[in-house]
Amino acid sequence: MKRTRHINIPIFIPHMGCPHACVFCNQKKISGALSIQSPMRVKKILEECFSTTGKNNDVEIAFFGGSFTGIPENEMIAYLELAQPYLRAGKASGIRLSTRPDTITPHKLKILKSYGVTVIELGVQSLDPEVLLMSQRGHTVEDVVSACSLIHDTGIKLGIQTMLGLPADTHEKAVKTAYDVIRLKPDMVRIYPTLVIKDTLLEEYYLTGRYTPLSLEEAIEWCTDILPIYREAGITVLRIGLQDSDTLEGSVVAGPYHPAFGELVESRILYRKLTNWLDMHLKKQKRVIIRTQPQLISKLVGQRRANIESIKEKYRLNEVIVKGDLEDGEFVIEAE
Ligand code: SF4
Repeated sequence: MKRTRHINIPIFIPHMGCPHACVFCNQKKISGALSIQSPMRVKKILEECFSTTGKNNDVEIAFFGGSFTGIPENEMIAYLELAQPYLRAGKASGIRLSTRPDTITPHKLKILKSYGVTVIELGVQSLDPEVLLMSQRGHTVEDVVSACSLIHDTGIKLGIQTMLGLPADTHEKAVKTAYDVIRLKPDMVRIYPTLVIKDTLLEEYYLTGRYTPLSLEEAIEWCTDILPIYREAGITVLRIGLQDSDTLEGSVVAGPYHPAFGELVESRILYRKLTNWLDMHLKKQKRVIIRTQPQLISKLVGQRRANIESIKEKYRLNEVIVKGDLEDGEFVIEAE
């Protein structure tokens, strides 16, 4: 049967007893406010979601939030059990989950594999030892390398989540982390610029002047440098920037938050390609026609036509026309 759309059913599993204190995480401070995700509740979420997913979609059950392999084994198995009827009936194609590298063991992987887990996303954040230390992650680079190797041995797909702009991070370290991540051969990555969230240690650091987040402009530039590194290595980038939500917007104290952050990065990548072309080919022409695919127009033009206005000013052009009449390729430029 032809499957048409990929759908994740996200189930947030808070890590209530997490012994760590990552500076960016608010689970400790708000743990009193978090409701335990009881198996009964998860069962209900699954029933509700599967009643609306439709027959032809590729549906994955996604246990996100805390650290799935860090919770007690009996709880982990109880959650996995709830997914089994949907896997057996062919309504779900797999289970994905997020976890910490230092909670991955051969024993736990054996359990995950036997319950049909298809993707494990590791919260790696950085592969720089100082950044890990200053962010109080409580795991080492070696833990990450070992977890990735164990996951590869099982055949379960590997995702790696990274954060940019954590304490002690620099542009150089972030770029090096990207190359080091590629060596770990993940199937997919996520890139999150660090935000200062309410009720975190990072908020205290920020309010007392011990931490300065990246500006939105810096975060866009860092991601514009890093995203193509992954793409050139053939690694799928699932997401750039946290998913916009009412809860997120209300809890961001500072940092490079933008509801369409990924779009801003894609737009900057296209801007760089346009200016590279113009630097090489533009002579004294004053009129430029950019032809592109209809679906790329908004990214190419940029928010509030920022890319076009910037090009006009930089190259002293009288006119820049954008046409969406290309069937493939990113863009073709004609200058006259
Ligand atoms: S981000 Fe860190 S502190 Fe928060 S739940 Fe995960 S491991 Fe624990």
